[in-house]
Amino acid sequence: MALKQFRAQSKRLMDLMINSIYTHKEIFLRELISNASDAIDKLYYHALERGDTGLNRDDFFIRIDLNKEARTLIVTDNGVGMTREELDDNLGTIAKSGSLEFKQDAESKEDVDIIGQFGVGFYSAFMVADQVIVESRAYGTEETYRWESKGLEGYQIKAGSLDQRGTVITLHIKPDSEDEHYSEFLDQYRIRELVKRYSDYIRYPIRMEMQHSHLKEGTGVDGKEPEYETHFEVETLNSMIPIWKKSKTEASDEEMNGFYKEKFHDWQDPLRVIRTSTEGAATYSALLFVPQTAPMDYYTRDYEKGLQLYASGVLIMEKCADLLPDCFSFVKGLVDSQDLSLNISREMLQHDRQLKLIATRLEKKIASELASMLQNDRDKYETFFKAFGLQLKYGLYEGYGEKKDELKDLVLFQSSQEQKLVTLKEYVSRMKDDQPAIYYGCGETAQRILSLPQAEAVREKGYELLLLTDNVDEFALKMLDKYEDKEFKNISADELDLETEAEKEQTKEKSEANKEMLAAMKEALGDKVKEVRLSAKLKTHPVCLSTDGAISTEMEKVLNAMPAQEKIHAQRVLEINPDHPVFERLIGLYATDREKLGVYAGILYDLALLIEGLPIEDPADFSRKLCDII
Ligand code: ADP
Repeated sequence: MALKQFRAQSKRLMDLMINSIYTHKEIFLRELISNASDAIDKLYYHALERGDTGLNRDDFFIRIDLNKEARTLIVTDNGVGMTREELDDNLGTIAKSGSLEFKQDAESKEDVDIIGQFGVGFYSAFMVADQVIVESRAYGTEETYRWESKGLEGYQIKAGSLDQRGTVITLHIKPDSEDEHYSEFLDQYRIRELVKRYSDYIRYPIRMEMQHSHLKEGTGVDGKEPEYETHFEVETLNSMIPIWKKSKTEASDEEMNGFYKEKFHDWQDPLRVIRTSTEGAATYSALLFVPQTAPMDYYTRDYEKGLQLYASGVLIMEKCADLLPDCFSFVKGLVDSQDLSLNISREMLQHDRQLKLIATRLEKKIASELASMLQNDRDKYETFFKAFGLQLKYGLYEGYGEKKDELKDLVLFQSSQEQKLVTLKEYVSRMKDDQPAIYYGCGETAQRILSLPQAEAVREKGYELLLLTDNVDEFALKMLDKYEDKEFKNISADELDLETEAEKEQTKEKSEANKEMLAAMKEALGDKVKEVRLSAKLKTHPVCLSTDGAISTEMEKVLNAMPAQEKIHAQRVLEINPDHPVFERLIGLYATDREKLGVYAGILYDLALLIEGLPIEDPADFSRKLCDII
């Protein structure tokens, strides 16, 4: 009998499968099982339509048979089956929506990737088999037909011999080669594992006869040679009920935690389990987990965010990145939606409106769950924040602050008030009536910030001070710009507005009177500073450094630590405390010994750097000058 030719598109797809170097060839099993499950669904509905009440949902099954000698893997279902025409149409052509989209994708270079990302249907069998036989008997008919193909040359359809309705697909597994160990698909344990992994939630039982061997009674003891007996047992390999479809009472916390740990390879229970399901514009169930600690690679480029994506209980994507915004990339879990087609491509998914809608809803849900954790379980939230707070702060900063409204109440900062983490809301609610702004200081540690000269004045006023110790902190606040209309002020960079009018006036007068002296100091310091000026904000310290312009010294440090960036310099200002004895000494020197004034200016500048936690340029020189004085 002459072979029938595959249509052009099918041929191309098949070619792709046969020559696939794709490493996850195992997905063929998921495809066949999902087709079988669909076939049973179809039968069920057809039967209902026809008023055929002879069918019982409990009678449906999918079966897998392995035969190592014959190198066959057989998938049987008692679903709707196919007529001769259907065999010809369905398996000879790609005419379905998903597949048509595939056609376009297949033209691109990323063939291999495409296979990995979504279901490619029946033809994926050719990744592991060199011959495929499909015998089928359609619902309501008496004839069986047999479709067979060895690949690209074409296929044949002839009469077959099944004694019951449904479809039997026989794969002749390819011989092992140097690179590929196809025999793994004849191993019962491997197959069981694959079913568990990819098809656990199929709603019909997937059965397989497992061969077990055990020690024959009375052997292997008392010096007798051990003898083994084999016995066969039909096992149902899948659990059938998706855990995310179970209600709170059906699935205990323990079961949830166990599921999480097994599925997402964590050794700790999740910090929070989020279950949500919606019907309407988007129909889906989602089961999400917030881990307790960040994975080792979390803050590296290697970390891949994403949720598992199921279409009607069938896994179609291991890590769908589009479902999570970067700020919540730590969330693990899955989404199951009946709105998605099993054969949707990754490119299509990216533009899928349904998926976008789901992603938006999930983001809102995650944000509200975190907010409720913050409100109701502060300790837990702080544990969470220790692990992932940095990510939320990056989130504030990234994308030009597009997520700032969502995140601004979820971030915590250390505070001078209680030496603990506070929210911006808490800070603002405690602000004094006369307090003009939200004050923050930056530094390596909280202690260091608290000992900054500029911190004194703020605290003397009884104002709370945010202690920013993470690199990203200041950038995040800059992006927020304001919180509840209150400006943020860096105590080392901004005009703090702490002085009374009288103090300001006094400083102004003193500055005017000592204009030349300050100019001489500036000259001695050269490019190191933009200005030397008097400041009323200093209390016990003689000097401090501040900055002019948008870049603070802390930001300078961070930006310059990034690779391949042009070095950035904050505009530094040396501020002098006019109420400090040192100031009197400077005035004296200006009158008597200008050279020494220059040396003192250098020492004071270095001192100010040290107080800021910045390196001094020439420590040896600093030490020499100091010793000279002593
Ligand atoms: P898809 O499942 O995406 O439609 P496939 O290439 O996997 O694409 O399958 C093509 C068609 O063949 C299916 O749509 C279905 O009509 C038919 N088919 C495949 N497997 C079976 C089966 N086990 N029982 C009945 N029909 C099947």
